[in-house]
Amino acid sequence: RDLAELDAHLIDCRACPRLVEWREQVAREKRRAFADQEYWGRPVPGIGPADARLLIVGLAPAAHGGNRTGRMFTGDQSGDFLFSAMYLAGLVSQPHSVSMDDGLELFDTRITAPVHCAPPQNKPTVEERDRCSCWLHGELELLAPTVRSVITLGAFGWQSTLRTFGALGWTVPRPAPKFAHGASTILTRGDATLEVFGCYHVSQHNTFTGRLTVEMLVDVLRAAAASAGI
Ligand code: SF4
Repeated sequence: RDLAELDAHLIDCRACPRLVEWREQVAREKRRAFADQEYWGRPVPGIGPADARLLIVGLAPAAHGGNRTGRMFTGDQSGDFLFSAMYLAGLVSQPHSVSMDDGLELFDTRITAPVHCAPPQNKPTVEERDRCSCWLHGELELLAPTVRSVITLGAFGWQSTLRTFGALGWTVPRPAPKFAHGASTILTRGDATLEVFGCYHVSQHNTFTGRLTVEMLVDVLRAAAASAGI
């Protein structure tokens, strides 16, 4: 099957009772600023072309961002931060991401997450992460023929990415490299190589405190794009 079919199945997933309850409760109760909007309230699929050479792996959709708009990093400040940096790096058509029909286009880049439903406090459990890994596994398998570099936003994405590529037969250095902002490691499978980059997550916890600046993110995006041949 192709990526569009995988995404079509994903949005019907109800495998995690706690997350199904939370995503739907948030969608019912809404934030006051969005009271007149219909929330998505379902699993949020990855975005970007199915033959992308660069992949960005986050954590999980935000309750009032992706869980509201139905698109990764869309409709919240984390998304604005990410897309403004991607715009500076030449990877998207516009510096903001507001809604599914805002005309945003990603150039040679796909964005996904190890967990596809918004979790309470942005913290999925280990069981939820493991349950959702089948979707990341399927997505990475379909992307593997073209993807040449991966940016992981935070340790959760870093570990999930290395684990999933390892399960797909890629050789991961041992001991497994540790996450750090600016870290990178090379995976191999046969003649193919793939570089994985670590970057602090674009959460407000990091961006409001200046731990992650737009310039820092642009540097990682440019390095990963160059590694992917973009
Ligand atoms: Fe399904 Fe993943 Fe959502 Fe769990 S987190 S319900 S496995 S899509």
